[in-house]
Amino acid sequence: MYDLLKRLSDAHGISGYEGNVRAIVRQELSSYGDVRVDVPGNLIVTKKGTTPSIMLAAHIDEIGLAVKHIDDNGFLKFVKVGGWFDQTLLNQRVIVHSKDPCFGVIGSKPPHVMKEDERKKPVEAKDMFVDVGASSADEVSDMGIEIGTAISIDQNLVRLAGDRVTGKALDNRAGAALLIEVMKRIGDIKPTVHAVFTTQEEVGLKGARTAAFGLDPDVAIAIDTCIAGDHPGITKDESAMEVGKGAAITVMDAGGRGVITHPKVLAWLRETAKKNKIAHQLDVSDGGTTDATAISLTREGIPSGVISVTTRYLHSPVEVLSLKDMGSCADLIAHAVRAAGKWF
Ligand SMILES: [Zn+2]
Repeated sequence: MYDLLKRLSDAHGISGYEGNVRAIVRQELSSYGDVRVDVPGNLIVTKKGTTPSIMLAAHIDEIGLAVKHIDDNGFLKFVKVGGWFDQTLLNQRVIVHSKDPCFGVIGSKPPHVMKEDERKKPVEAKDMFVDVGASSADEVSDMGIEIGTAISIDQNLVRLAGDRVTGKALDNRAGAALLIEVMKRIGDIKPTVHAVFTTQEEVGLKGARTAAFGLDPDVAIAIDTCIAGDHPGITKDESAMEVGKGAAITVMDAGGRGVITHPKVLAWLRETAKKNKIAHQLDVSDGGTTDATAISLTREGIPSGVISVTTRYLHSPVEVLSLKDMGSCADLIAHAVRAAGKWF
């Protein structure tokens, strides 16, 4: 799974500009079902069977930036697209997605010239800018950069010790890799399976909402990442999730304001994990939510749940997860899909 995850994580696709990632998914799955792209850009691969119909959703967008203003000296001011913690942006190298993508760096006022009290405060994103090396607005324009051009972090996936890897956008290219893997693995089964690679999750769970309405599935699972609580600076009562302890099955997220997993879905996933001896952990979280929330509120309500990969440093360029956990997630999703007929 490492090679596929690397291709997906290293690809660039901020919310609303997911084309590069969509192209990889299409290439991987074109012979595994009917492929179509809908209006919001969701790529939907359908493996036609009978009942039940299952929607598996993995968002393919990543958080990024977009050009808001170009100043006379060629510096780019930007808006944040998705939930950035400002401190993680400062001094990152980025890729500016003009016609010929180019490099840039995120700069700010140097600490050397800050006043004592300024230096104590973290620099806010509104005081940062992107420097592409240009000296004027005209030069920037000649480079094909304009208002609205997307910007993403330049960071490649690499291995850490053991089965751990680090990269950008593991939220949620890990989910995308899992969904590709599951579609290749399930073979001929009775249920109809819609693999939906959703857009604009990070800015309001948007693609999943319209796709769920159109597909009207009997049951849905979102595949995503969740917050690890197993490193310095966080305690087990803030997040009990651990990297390496298996697939995370969400019981509720955002303190119940996100999804409260439908009891039948929760029983289906837990029993499937137990029966097949798949390492798993239950997740109850206070913050953050997934596509399952939007799907569960579609039409008259769709029973929905979440399976996720526990990930450290979420929404940073150095997210960390375990490939073994990804294996557990793939096993759980594939077994659950095969057993779905007994439940729905
Ligand atoms: Zn996510």
